[in-house]
Amino acid sequence: MPELSSRRRFLKKAAVASGGALLGAVGLNQVSPRIWREPLVFEPNGSYWARSQPPQNPPLTNDIAVDVAVLGGGFTGLSAAYYIRSISPQKRVVVLEAKGCGNGASGRNGAMVLTMTADRYMQFSPAPAIDKKIYDLTTENIRRLSKLSVATAIDCELETNGALQVLVTSDDVKAAKAYVEQARSLGMPVEFWDKQQLAGAIGTEVYEAGFFDPNGGHVHPMKLVHVFKRAAENAGAEIYENTVVAAIEEGRENILHTTGGHAIKAKSLVLATNAFTSRLGYFRNSFMPVREYVAMTQPCSEQQLAEIGWRMRVPFNDSRTEVFYLGLTRDNRIHIGGGSPNYVFNGGVGDASAAASHSAQLRRELARIYPKLSDVSFELAWDGVVDWSMDESPSVGYTGRYKNIFYGLGYSGHGVNLTSVFGRIIADLEAGREEPWTQYPFLNASLEYVPNEPFRWLGAQSQMAWYRLTES
Ligand SMILES: Cc1cc2nc3c(=O)[nH]c(=O)nc-3n(C[C@H](O)[C@H](O)[C@H](O)COP(=O)(O)OP(=O)(O)OC[C@H]3O[C@@H](n4cnc5c(N)ncnc54)[C@H](O)[C@@H]3O)c2cc1C
Repeated sequence: MPELSSRRRFLKKAAVASGGALLGAVGLNQVSPRIWREPLVFEPNGSYWARSQPPQNPPLTNDIAVDVAVLGGGFTGLSAAYYIRSISPQKRVVVLEAKGCGNGASGRNGAMVLTMTADRYMQFSPAPAIDKKIYDLTTENIRRLSKLSVATAIDCELETNGALQVLVTSDDVKAAKAYVEQARSLGMPVEFWDKQQLAGAIGTEVYEAGFFDPNGGHVHPMKLVHVFKRAAENAGAEIYENTVVAAIEEGRENILHTTGGHAIKAKSLVLATNAFTSRLGYFRNSFMPVREYVAMTQPCSEQQLAEIGWRMRVPFNDSRTEVFYLGLTRDNRIHIGGGSPNYVFNGGVGDASAAASHSAQLRRELARIYPKLSDVSFELAWDGVVDWSMDESPSVGYTGRYKNIFYGLGYSGHGVNLTSVFGRIIADLEAGREEPWTQYPFLNASLEYVPNEPFRWLGAQSQMAWYRLTES
């Protein structure tokens, strides 16, 4: 009897304790954004691409009133500004960028120009006909990039020789074969390459097979930033750099406050702030700002490339969750990115020691893929932040009480091409035109819930530990 009652007491206490813990957790999740404010810090871009950063414009030095204020001078913001002015040349449109244009992911990435969205790449949704439309839309956008590069007279080194996904496991091979069969029946010109064909194109024999998309490509990302910057300015947008927006007062007319003490009144606001969006209090529960690493060799000689057998100038990424991706610059440098990402508590800034260990991991992977490059050293390495949504799906649309705040985010490492599709959609939405975009799943898509700190950090750590365990 006493034993039973003590067991009952224990169970009761345990129930109260776990209920309390749950309530505590829910409460902590709710108050967390007030306890841990995300830092409004913008680290300088130390990438290879940054060497080609366009000359910077002066910062904003007075109060202004505009039709549209675009926050963020990356692909999303600059393309949105370009398309808004192209549709409505009478509107005053300004872009406000915290540092220089291309300081975010747009000027630090892996340079792969891809069709589709991250969640539907090599994967059909329950609506394959829509997937095919997304394929056509994103393919057509790559042609637009090429035309815009010519129109602005800025050579962004766009090579449209296709893009490869190299397959690591036999399950990946099976899935890719099935995908290619269905895709081709829908008219998508993608191909399955066996091990031999793959080795003939990129030399290495470490992969089982490949998925080839002839519509993908490779670009110099910062030169593409320059294309959009010039296109936006030619269309009449004003761009202010080194101008940090610290706070937003929403209204029929939004008021933005800069750290320099200036106010911008804007009828429409475009949040093109990607992985930094939550630092302004928006979409905090829609994505995780995950840090990824990239490294670049010195130029390889023609003989070195011939020796490793990288004959076809196509970029490639592998099929692992902690994906590695490689590409060739015009002067034959090899860049490799990916591997284990890093999530810094509260979306904070990175640290140098993490960068060094990630660079070592990239070095090992390059030597594994191309043993003949074991002695080649990196000229430089850098990092960048990706706006990862839980299921890798992106969203573009409008928010706010007055539906005058437009946004595009959740690209999940697949935004070099998609960003300017979203820039175009944002311009249409800003002009009050929802068609033809209502048929696409990313219009005003609500993204899966991401908890606040410390749960976000805990979740990220355990997920990444799991990948490391299962994919090493
Ligand atoms: C390491 C890495 C590798 C990648 N590789 C690929 C790839 O190979 N292929 C691919 O398709 N995608 C890749 N991506 C993803 C792709 O680069 C992004 O999806 C894309 O660049 C996002 O562009 P954006 O304009 O939306 O954001 P960003 O380029 O990040 O621009 C946002 C801008 O907003 C500014 N900003 C933010 N807050 C404020 C503020 N408060 N005030 C003023 N300015 C502000 C920032 O300074 C920044 O310049 C990669 C990303 C990274 C980081």
